[in-house]
Amino acid sequence: MTEKQYWKEIFEKFRVSDSLKELILKTVSLPISKKDEILKNIKSIKERGGLFLALITLFRQQVRCGFVLGDPLKEKEERVVRDKKTGVDFILSWNPDRELRKNHKMLMARGIISKKVDEKKLVNIAPNGKPCYLCWKNIKEQNPAEIIFKIRLANEYFYIGSNFAYITNNHFTVMNSKHIPQTFREEIFDFMFSFLDKTDGYFKIIYNGLAGASIKWHEHLQATSEDFPVQKINQGEPVLKKSSFSLHTPDYYIPLFILTGTDRKKIKEMASFILNEWEKLSPNHTENLLMLKKNKKFKLYLFLRDSKRLVGEGKSGAMASFEVSGRIVLSVENGDFDEREIFKKAGILWIIKIFSDIKPSEKMIKSLYTRLKERGMVK
Ligand SMILES: [Zn+2]
Repeated sequence: MTEKQYWKEIFEKFRVSDSLKELILKTVSLPISKKDEILKNIKSIKERGGLFLALITLFRQQVRCGFVLGDPLKEKEERVVRDKKTGVDFILSWNPDRELRKNHKMLMARGIISKKVDEKKLVNIAPNGKPCYLCWKNIKEQNPAEIIFKIRLANEYFYIGSNFAYITNNHFTVMNSKHIPQTFREEIFDFMFSFLDKTDGYFKIIYNGLAGASIKWHEHLQATSEDFPVQKINQGEPVLKKSSFSLHTPDYYIPLFILTGTDRKKIKEMASFILNEWEKLSPNHTENLLMLKKNKKFKLYLFLRDSKRLVGEGKSGAMASFEVSGRIVLSVENGDFDEREIFKKAGILWIIKIFSDIKPSEKMIKSLYTRLKERGMVK
């Protein structure tokens, strides 16, 4: 798709006024040297057209100026692997642009990382010896081409910025304004509800607990405007149904709970209960979360994970929310893995195999179900 077609569709869908169109198109073409003007425009677009329009404008500016490592609007190599059993059309996504993130020289040339850093200005040195990548003070000092802006979600402040090693179009990182660790807390659900409200459901939001989050020392979520394959899953009959809330436990290759409804308090309470029980069973237990909003109804996909089982055979790196939601990202062609061969050949059997590699132990899953049955949550 060309950028022109992209904007045409967006402008029609959201009935954007001529003056706002003009501001959006001007903003995406501004160079990074005009950072203040870009930020001022993004705020104005947010006020006039909503957070969704502001974010997609920012993302296009970040693609145009070279901060994002490729252009997601350009045709990507993808293969769809249909699975009749679950109803999910898994996507194998070939994304070599992601590998550019390891090319330090190129990152410097594009202004993604700074050539000169004032070390006195850096804060929170992370366990890997580097200043935390998600602290805004460090971003300001080290990543000249990155534009982040502050939003309030529920009762806390976050910075939101484009993911330069993007997986899908409009892929953002939503970072807590405070340097606090990535350990699950119930408020995560409030941030998710709040973000989905503010973007009118046009974005989906994900959270990787210790399963897949590469930066464990700074709380963050991710968001994208694209759909996830798991949204098409055969849900089956609900195991619990009330007027404003339902719970499904569909057949899938790792344990999955789907909580749907308008009753956010109930979703939060029940999902927190499931996660707390899961985490009580083992210190390695963790989760991947995906939430979306459609016609005022929220839908939370809760995947149970084990931090000792993160990697599927044949794929480099941990399987995180994108993968468990049905999009398998492959990008490595050299070195220990040749994911290109897998990309070309893999079918449903390979997908079932990598999911079985990351599935928590049956014994643990059974123990959780026993607890949930005692509470009358599942049959
Ligand atoms: Zn930090």
